[in-house]
Amino acid sequence: MPTVAPRASRYQGHCTVCGAWATFADMSTPIRETYQCGQCRASMRERVMAEAILAVFGRATHTSLSTLVDDPRFAGLHIFEPGIAGAYRRLFRPLPHYANSFYWEDADPGEMRDGVRNEDLMNLTFESDALDLVLSSDIFEHVRRPWQGFEEIWRVLRPGGFHIFTVPSLVPMPPKTLYRVDTTTDFDIHLKDPHYHGDGAGGRSLVYTEFGADLFDRLADIGFDVWSVRADHADAERSRVNAFAARARKPGA
Ligand SMILES: [Zn+2]
Repeated sequence: MPTVAPRASRYQGHCTVCGAWATFADMSTPIRETYQCGQCRASMRERVMAEAILAVFGRATHTSLSTLVDDPRFAGLHIFEPGIAGAYRRLFRPLPHYANSFYWEDADPGEMRDGVRNEDLMNLTFESDALDLVLSSDIFEHVRRPWQGFEEIWRVLRPGGFHIFTVPSLVPMPPKTLYRVDTTTDFDIHLKDPHYHGDGAGGRSLVYTEFGADLFDRLADIGFDVWSVRADHADAERSRVNAFAARARKPGA
């Protein structure tokens, strides 16, 4: 059995989101949500995902998203980030081609509310091949038919574009994805006790899916080259959070 280091109450390090040398304190929440940056509040999940973004788009001089957004090459990308909470938005919102979304059932697809687009991830209003980068952090476990959502992301990405994301997952991942809800009809049939996460807007969002390692094969079938970025850091805790980078394999890439 692999041993896991005891969970430290706090540690210091370089924040890959805001760039600060900061203290990351245990908030006694699930491991991926804790150790928030004392400067920008980025959680461990957001910092590991930032490492994936830096690995794909950064150069050696980019050690945080705060420096990456100053690079005109990155700043000019067409970026879509569903969801309205999180530490990235303050950095990304000034970028000219950055879009945020939320899903309101009572709004028209693509409609804007206070600068936020209404988007159903299973049926996006973006043109095909329109985006360079889609970012989703702990969103896809709430998508009713997740593979349909991943197919939509693939459609709207340009050849060679990236979907960088996190989903709650154990390390190591169990081999098979667990479906908590039968969604084969228009009605949800619960196969497990309903489990909810906060939706970032004061409401709650049902967890449909617990992803397993077959995620890689399913995404490959859709047309992504996928790898996971599990930073190998001195602190064992951090290495328990995965981020995934999926590159759209399309003609012209
Ligand atoms: Zn920070």
